Amino acid sequence: MGYQELALQLTDEQVALKESVHKFAVNVVRPAAGELDRMTPEEVIQKGSPFWTVMKQMYAMKYHTVLIPDEYGGIGLDPLSLHIFFEELSYGSAGLTVASGVACFPSFYASMLAEDYLTDNIIIPYVNCTDASNVGCWAITEPDHGSDILMPGTEFFHDRKISHSIKAVKKGERWLINGQTSAWVSCGPVATTAALFVGIDSAQGMAGGGICLIDLTQKGISRGKPTNKIGQRDLPQGEIFFDNAEVSEGYMIIDPESYESMSDTTIAIANASMGAFFTGVARAAYELALQYAKERVQGGKAIVAHATIKDKLFDMFRKIETARAYSRAALVYNLNTTPPLVEYSIASKTHCTQVAFEVANEALQIHGGYGLTKDYLIEKIFRDARAGLIEDGSNYSLALAAADALLKRTDIK
Ligand SMILES: Cc1cc2nc3c(=O)[nH]c(=O)nc-3n(C[C@H](O)[C@H](O)[C@H](O)COP(=O)(O)OP(=O)(O)OC[C@H]3O[C@@H](n4cnc5c(N)ncnc54)[C@H](O)[C@@H]3O)c2cc1C
Repeated sequence: MGYQELALQLTDEQVALKESVHKFAVNVVRPAAGELDRMTPEEVIQKGSPFWTVMKQMYAMKYHTVLIPDEYGGIGLDPLSLHIFFEELSYGSAGLTVASGVACFPSFYASMLAEDYLTDNIIIPYVNCTDASNVGCWAITEPDHGSDILMPGTEFFHDRKISHSIKAVKKGERWLINGQTSAWVSCGPVATTAALFVGIDSAQGMAGGGICLIDLTQKGISRGKPTNKIGQRDLPQGEIFFDNAEVSEGYMIIDPESYESMSDTTIAIANASMGAFFTGVARAAYELALQYAKERVQGGKAIVAHATIKDKLFDMFRKIETARAYSRAALVYNLNTTPPLVEYSIASKTHCTQVAFEVANEALQIHGGYGLTKDYLIEKIFRDARAGLIEDGSNYSLALAAADALLKRTDIK
């Protein structure tokens, strides 16, 4: 029951990619995500859990390298193929897609810098890893900074009274890192490396930050309990603590001078990817509702024959098609443009997560009481979609940051 592909210019490779990732999402990702959803967060990260089985399969197929250019040994998908890949994988499950997406963060940054030592020590070990023993994460949020740390370009980003609580202090040729992340770092409990956002010059407020690539297997690093939450339970999340952890000089890859613009670029890429992820989530919900509506009989006929259900299904379809069209355009544009236009990525993230939530909500309604039970997949997808409205920046605060960017660029006061 596939959707009609409206892009007539897809290459044979893109069609093949779509089919193979779809198959993997349905046959491997979805069943494993269902099992993980019923486990405790501690069981999810245990050796031998379905989380590791799927991650290992993804690494063996090089899915962890879709954002790493081929000159470094990655798959390096073009932006449209990347959208197709993310949408199809998320059709299986948002949580495991996010896990494989954040895994590449340190290597993705390293690939933007093109320094030989970063290639040798960060990228190559990552792309050559076939057993998911090398997992990265994006550690930006802190217990007291969730939304504001994700709002570069706003007035309070430069407010001297608001600064990072994770601090980096230079000692000779090393940086010493102290503090803790929020409980929300995706893959935080299992990651071996982080792209860590730190405070360097608090006199500049949030803008005085830096980004380092830090080895999480060293002394001075510990983790909190994995976070127990209602959605995306197949995605391990948790705090990381730094107690005089060390980063060598060359691994503080971004300093306060370029911190705000790199934060902006990071959000632009991450939010545009989220648009693709949640198009896939919305589609999964819609297809479940359609199938159920054809099977469930009430009033002597399949409920799909009732006008209200038809209308709801069409409404869901319309939202998904527009979400796909817009999120593809935003991802393709922003991955081809330097610097990217962050407001377009935020529009994609906020729109597609909202669509996914609305579609999942309607799809659950179409399932009636059964939709509320653990026996039906729609119940999990509804919870996963709910998390999307907060993940990667809460939609309210992202919208404010996007509005600021929009007003600045269009010069409207
Ligand atoms: C599934 C998931 C995955 C995540 N993955 C990661 C990850 O990989 N790495 C990482 O570091 N973090 C991650 N996060 C954290 C996520 O980025 C934060 O949860 C998010 O930025 C919101 O921060 P907060 O939870 O602290 O809420 P707060 O910032 O405390 O916000 C609380 C409420 O206040 C609103 N609000 C805040 N500021 C404003 C404002 N200026 N104007 C209007 N309203 C405002 C918000 O919109 C929200 O509704 C993840 C979160 C989730 C749910």
